[in-house]
Amino acid sequence: MSGIDDLPPLRDVIATYELAAKKSLGQNFLLDLNLTAKIARLAGDLTGADVLEIGPGPGGLTRGLLAEGARRVLAIEKDPRCMPALAEIAAAYPGRLQAINGDALTVNPLEHLTPPIKIAANLPYNVGTELLVRWLTPPEWPPFWVSLTLMFQREVAQRIVATPGSKAYGRLALLAQWRTDPKIVMDLPPEAFSPPPKVNSAVVHLTALPAPRYPADPAVLNMVVAAAFNQRRKMLRSALKSVSPQIEDHLHAVGIKPTERAEQVGLEAFCALARSLATAG
Ligand code: SAM
Repeated sequence: MSGIDDLPPLRDVIATYELAAKKSLGQNFLLDLNLTAKIARLAGDLTGADVLEIGPGPGGLTRGLLAEGARRVLAIEKDPRCMPALAEIAAAYPGRLQAINGDALTVNPLEHLTPPIKIAANLPYNVGTELLVRWLTPPEWPPFWVSLTLMFQREVAQRIVATPGSKAYGRLALLAQWRTDPKIVMDLPPEAFSPPPKVNSAVVHLTALPAPRYPADPAVLNMVVAAAFNQRRKMLRSALKSVSPQIEDHLHAVGIKPTERAEQVGLEAFCALARSLATAG
């Protein structure tokens, strides 16, 4: 018995199914079920929602999500060794957990889920940023999910919520803040995991906004932001020269000094610049 359910403690699960952590799969497991239940609560009310979980491993967060009342959980795990442990959880919560052995980068979760959908995960660090960028850049907005509750290295979490003028400010901040409301909601020390990683971690909660904060064409905005931050130390008039020969006129038109650097420019101004460039064709 483990406190939040009638299943065995995670240390016993790991011993029974011989789940020695593999570095190549970014395996740092959460073993404290009170902590995983607390992380599940950070995703908000789960009772009327399907939850997509990436990388359930031995199932600590999965059990937290189910104990906190998730309607259904779809858990996608790359490591086949974890499947028997996940099957044991599925048996304890009949009809509420579907575990798929596969790569989160290739499995289409929408074939298995019904809206509203929340995403919650202690992400494998090697694919975490790639998945986040995909979830933030769907073809249509609003996206298929209503919120993301995700564990990252603290440094990545800081890049998501960063504001202009800080070192962490860049593409990820602009991408996240344009169409979501991102917040760091929990800090975790390395000792919270087994084995402990070398870095601190943090949980970020991102709520999808119904519409972008400021209008802009996603492709143009992405192109401008990428060009601006690829040469973040250069003044914008030279960093963005390749974007348009009239870049100085566009910068002036939207009130950005051509001598400014990307990290000084806020989201609203980047959106205005994208609109000005789109209008020019
Ligand atoms: N959620 C568990 C926990 O909190 O204890 C495990 C978290 S561990 C940081 C990341 C998990 O993601 C591992 O179980 C790993 O096998 C899995 N994983 C790694 N790459 C994956 C991928 N491409 N698709 C799905 N799962 C993956």
